[in-house]
Amino acid sequence: MTSHATAGSAGGSSPVEPVEDARADAPLARLVDADWLLPTGAAGLLGFTAKFESAVSALQEALTRAHPTGTPGPSFLAPVVPLSHIERAEYAEAFPHLLASVHALPPGTGGSGGSRVLGADVRVPTDAVLAPAACYSLYPALADRTLDAPRHFDVAGSCYRHEETSEVGRFRSFRMREFVAVGTEDTALAWREDWMERCRAFFADLGLAVRVEAASDPFFGPGARFMRSSQLQQSLKYEFVAQVSDSDAGTAIASVNLHKDHLGLRFAIGAPGGGPAHSSCAAFGLERIVLALVHQHGDTPADWPGTAAIRTGLDTVHS
Ligand code: ATP
Ligand code: ZN
Ligand code: MG
Repeated sequence: MTSHATAGSAGGSSPVEPVEDARADAPLARLVDADWLLPTGAAGLLGFTAKFESAVSALQEALTRAHPTGTPGPSFLAPVVPLSHIERAEYAEAFPHLLASVHALPPGTGGSGGSRVLGADVRVPTDAVLAPAACYSLYPALADRTLDAPRHFDVAGSCYRHEETSEVGRFRSFRMREFVAVGTEDTALAWREDWMERCRAFFADLGLAVRVEAASDPFFGPGARFMRSSQLQQSLKYEFVAQVSDSDAGTAIASVNLHKDHLGLRFAIGAPGGGPAHSSCAAFGLERIVLALVHQHGDTPADWPGTAAIRTGLDTVHS
C-alpha cells in the first residue's frame, strides 16, 4: 500500500478551514510579491501566475523528454475519481485523513437560503472523491483481467489532499505527473530502478540540490506504525528531497514507489504469464519542483541553469 493506492473517508461534517494571511507567512509573501503565487486566503489553496505556469509547462516538456522509450506527453486524468475505485484500492483505510469527497446540494435546494443553502447539514455526498494521486484512475481501467503484456503509462492530474499543515510547498490542491508500470514483478522492479537513476540525472541537469531518502507514507490508524516500518524495511518508497524555501528542512519533490502486488490484487489485474500484477510509479510534484527551482536559482527563469532538460522550454518564459 502506498499513498498512490486510494482516496479517503471524508466523513459527514464539513471542517472549518483555517484562513491564511499571506502577509503573516514570510516565504509565501515573498513568492506572492515575486509574481509566482496567487493566495486565496485559505491555507494550502493557491493560484499560479502566468510566470509560474510557463515554468510548469517547461518542466512538463522536460519530463516528456526524460521518458525512457518516448512519450507524446501525459494523458490528463480527471481531478475527481469514483468513490468505488478508491474503496477498491483501500485508500480510505490507510489514509482517511487525506481524503476529501465531493458533496452536492439535493434536488430542489436553492432560492434565498444564503450560506444556509451550503451548510453542512444540507450538502449530500456524491459518488466522487478528489483524486489523491494521479495514478488512481489507471488500475480500475485494467481491472478483472490478465494483461498479455506489461503496460506503461504517462499521466498527469490535479490532486487534493487534506493536509494538516500549509507551509510553502504543502498544498491541498496540487498537480502530479506520474510514469507508471504494471506487469510482472520484474517489470515493476526494472521501472523503479530505471526511474531512480533517471530522477537523479534529471534533477542534476536542472542544477537542483537533492538528497535521496528511503521514505514511508503517512499511514493512519492502529496498523500505521507496522505499515511504515515494513514499507521502509522493504525499501518500497524513495523520495527526492530538496529545499523549497528558506525555512524548509527539505521537501519531497518526487517519489519513486514500488507497490508490489498490492494494486494488482485489489483490482484483480493478472500479470502476463500468471500471478497478480505488480506495479511501480515515479511521481513528480510539479509545483514543488518549480518552487525548488525558484528557491535555489532565483526569480528569473532565464538565468536558471540546466542544459538539455529544461533550458529549451524556459527560453520562452518571461522573467
Ligand atoms: P510528503 O511526504 O511531502 O507528504 P508524499 O509522500 O505524501 O509527500 P507522494 O504520495 O509520494 O507524496 O506524492 C508524489 C509527489 O507529489 C511528492 O513527491 C510531492 O512532490 C508531490 N506532493 C505530495 N503531496 C503534496 C502536497 N500536499 N503539495 C504539493 N505537492 C505534493
Ligand atoms: Zn502513483
Ligand atoms: Mg504526504
